[in-house]
Amino acid sequence: MSLATYNDKRNFKQTSEPSGKKPEVSDENLVFVIQRHKASHLHYDFRLELDGVLKSWAVPKGPSLNPTDKRLAMMVEDHPYDYKDFAGVIPEGNYGAGIVEIWDNGTYDAVDEKGPERIVTEYAKKVKLLHAGIEAGNLKFKLRGKKLKGEFALVRLKGSDSNSWLLVKHRDDFAVNEPYNSEEDTPKNSPINKWLAENKPEKLVKKKPRTLRTH
Ligand code: MN
Repeated sequence: MSLATYNDKRNFKQTSEPSGKKPEVSDENLVFVIQRHKASHLHYDFRLELDGVLKSWAVPKGPSLNPTDKRLAMMVEDHPYDYKDFAGVIPEGNYGAGIVEIWDNGTYDAVDEKGPERIVTEYAKKVKLLHAGIEAGNLKFKLRGKKLKGEFALVRLKGSDSNSWLLVKHRDDFAVNEPYNSEEDTPKNSPINKWLAENKPEKLVKKKPRTLRTH
């Protein structure tokens, strides 16, 4: 498990993102975070703690609570555990330049469809299952977030070393039947939405014409 790729891509003198130190393995709850990130494109970053780092996938369309949606999730480099708390502006010229906000977070457990206990909460057992799931390209887990709850799967698309996975909601009490759009589950005044309103290209902004210039 290495954070070298993460560190190589970033200049910590410029970005306020956390630098990737040694993985910090806790023996408590495993956490997840979903960050909404306006870079060159708006996307969502889905991160699951494992082995003291955050396994990470970029989800262009965002997650869905509707089990008929299969959301493309591109596996990217591991991020440091501390990234779970990161929100803010990444300055122009830096990797991922734009703005990040925390869209959802919470804890998660492994799901073992064949085991005696479906939801595996014991640390050593769930870590083993999660490793096997990543290895097999079929990761099943239960989220306890504020927006996302219940069982999900990340399934790697066939193709030897593909980084393409699909994020799918399982049918359970938290699944919805109506169309789900994560953008509609985002407050209108979220930090990114406010920032976009203030930083839109001129032509997209309906500003009152200025009659006075101070320079
Ligand atoms: Mn991102």
